[in-house]
Amino acid sequence: MQPSPSIGIVGAGLAGACAAFALHRQAHVEVFEATDATNQAFRATGGLFHPLMTRRARPNWQHEAALTALEQLLAEVGDQVPVRRGLLRVAFDERQAADFREAACAYPHWVQWLSPEAVRERFPQVRAPYGALWISQGGALSANRLIDVLLARSGVPVHRPVRVVDWEETSRQVLLHTDRGDTHAFDYVILAPGYGYRLHPELARLPFQAVKGQVISLAGPASLATLPLVLATVHLVPSDGLLFVGSSYEPAFTDLAPSDAQTHRLWQEATRWVPEVMQGTVVAALTGVRVIRPRRPLPVLSPLPGRQRLWLFSGLGSRGLLYAPLLASWLPEALREPERLPAAVRL
Ligand SMILES: Cc1cc2nc3c(=O)[nH]c(=O)nc-3n(C[C@H](O)[C@H](O)[C@H](O)COP(=O)(O)OP(=O)(O)OC[C@H]3O[C@@H](n4cnc5c(N)ncnc54)[C@H](O)[C@@H]3O)c2cc1C
Repeated sequence: MQPSPSIGIVGAGLAGACAAFALHRQAHVEVFEATDATNQAFRATGGLFHPLMTRRARPNWQHEAALTALEQLLAEVGDQVPVRRGLLRVAFDERQAADFREAACAYPHWVQWLSPEAVRERFPQVRAPYGALWISQGGALSANRLIDVLLARSGVPVHRPVRVVDWEETSRQVLLHTDRGDTHAFDYVILAPGYGYRLHPELARLPFQAVKGQVISLAGPASLATLPLVLATVHLVPSDGLLFVGSSYEPAFTDLAPSDAQTHRLWQEATRWVPEVMQGTVVAALTGVRVIRPRRPLPVLSPLPGRQRLWLFSGLGSRGLLYAPLLASWLPEALREPERLPAAVRL
């Protein structure tokens, strides 16, 4: 029997946590995370997932496999990660409504078309003048909670706050150097640093783009707690007695501070679809950064160019929940046989 490989994972975000969970049974895994646990709790995300995330409600790349991988992961973590099921995707103009009606005909097992009258009857708080899709296969969960549970269930050591500052690959191993001044050797290393990619010259030259996003939370009338999950020009997610509204999409940004202008815009947009939101009070504003491949908007799971033992898992964009579990599930085999990975996710 071959000894289990040792694998270092850099970054305890969604990609790193899913990778740790997928690998912990076959390998000795250790995770390095630059921030402390308190910071992680404030990572901004909508927590939404569904199979028709494009503007025209067309299926996403590998949608079936992606949803299956997410559902398998959720089944493994059980009720430790509560999931709210069903999502109302409101059309924001007549053209989008036409696309949605087509989607409802093409994918009746996932989505149902609701006319404006049907929305009014079923969800009286929601304004949907052009109609909406009811996506039974969609839902929302706390990505932060999922990350915590996956790391805890894997039982792997998480070194935090420890920033990996550099790495070296030899023919037999990868050495990780940390900001504590120590070095750790592994058979393989998976870099899952999210926006941290820009701090490493080997990653900064890859064709990624960072897009800032802001989410606000509102305390409001108790009736808001009975809202369905709504996705229109913004998303509205009731959770823990608050309503989360997001998110902005800011490709040009100079800092990560939340802005009053975006808070106002998100609130205004939310009232367009659910007028009662007007009576809410903004409690907090959070920001985060999505990492995308601009010309090829698919995630990346790949050895770095010219490397064998040093891998990158990134580029999840706004579809982290859909793609992180799927790509992570490929890892155990892919580390042995990288050529079996779909070309679409390789660098
Ligand atoms: C506003 C907003 C809303 C979103 N809404 C949704 C949504 O509704 N549904 C959905 O599926 N996705 C959503 N996303 C996208 C989702 O959040 C991302 O796809 C996902 O978080 C990416 O995970 P990641 O692990 O690649 O990166 P990250 O979550 O950024 O994690 C990377 C981690 O690596 C650590 N790190 C970086 N460099 C180092 C280093 N050198 N050493 C050690 N640690 C390091 C960082 O501290 C960080 O914890 C949203 C994103 C934003 C910004």
